[in-house]
Amino acid sequence: PEREPIEEARPETPVKPMTATEVKVNVSIPEAAERAAATGADGVGLLRIEHMILSLGKTPQKFVAENGEKAYVDEIVSGIRGVADEFYPRPVRVRTLDAPTDEFRQLEGGEDEPHEHNPMLGYRGIRRSLDRPDVFEYELRAFKRLYEMGYDNVEIMFPLVNDAEDVLAARRLMREVGIDTERRSWGVMVETPASALSIEGMAEAGIDFASFGTNDLTQYTLAVDRNNEHVADRFDELHPAVLELIASTIETCREHDVNTSICGQAGSKPKMVQHLVNTGVSSISANIDAVRDVQHEAKRVEQKLVLDSIR
Ligand code: PEP
Ligand code: MG
Repeated sequence: PEREPIEEARPETPVKPMTATEVKVNVSIPEAAERAAATGADGVGLLRIEHMILSLGKTPQKFVAENGEKAYVDEIVSGIRGVADEFYPRPVRVRTLDAPTDEFRQLEGGEDEPHEHNPMLGYRGIRRSLDRPDVFEYELRAFKRLYEMGYDNVEIMFPLVNDAEDVLAARRLMREVGIDTERRSWGVMVETPASALSIEGMAEAGIDFASFGTNDLTQYTLAVDRNNEHVADRFDELHPAVLELIASTIETCREHDVNTSICGQAGSKPKMVQHLVNTGVSSISANIDAVRDVQHEAKRVEQKLVLDSIR
């Protein structure tokens, strides 16, 4: 009689290489959480909430006007919860809303959005959040609720900050809604040259982590629009200027006991993994399909570091 194929008889259990560098995964839609968790990643390095909010079809203001604040907070809580459950107790780093005005304009209520020449240089990320603390507060209340529900694996990350002033303003708003900023893990994305150069002040303002958003960090460092096909060949996340900003930021963060990570696309590229591991990054967050390769590459670079140090 034919033997049963062994592969079918047992479930797939990925063998995860042990690495000193944590390898996490990026999640853009809550529906991908199960697949992301199955990679064996050490957590979520970036959970984008744009999809949860834009899929409501209305701007936050319009949605709240029609359905009330609670319904809006509930939407955010349930979106994050789906992912936080899937990964618990592994950490899930949630980024606060970062959609440019041209994306909000597609929504009901979007007619009130400002028209901007350069939306990517404009009213987005933490700038918008700090300008509309009344709307931002709903997101912060969602985090507060999640903490009350026991999701202590949820972390808060602020996009497009430039300096300590942005960080202190965000921290004040967290405290105002009752989030214990000493106890919870929160931090920033390093996506502008200014933020890389201001890292010391941000570290002193109390961030727990800094995560490189290399999609934006590259576009702003090189002045190359990430969405412009005519300059696409100049969009180089491995440009020495970008790598230098990353290396110096990691160095300062290590001195201040601030964790470092990457959550831009470049985190899935072997050359960037080499640069990051060699400079002592704490974690790397990759696309779902790249997690396994990044784990192996990080392991390889770590082993080489050890061997080089004893040779
Ligand atoms: C980045 O800028 O690298 C990033 C992860 O954020 P987003 O791509 O959403 O701007
Ligand atoms: Mg970005």
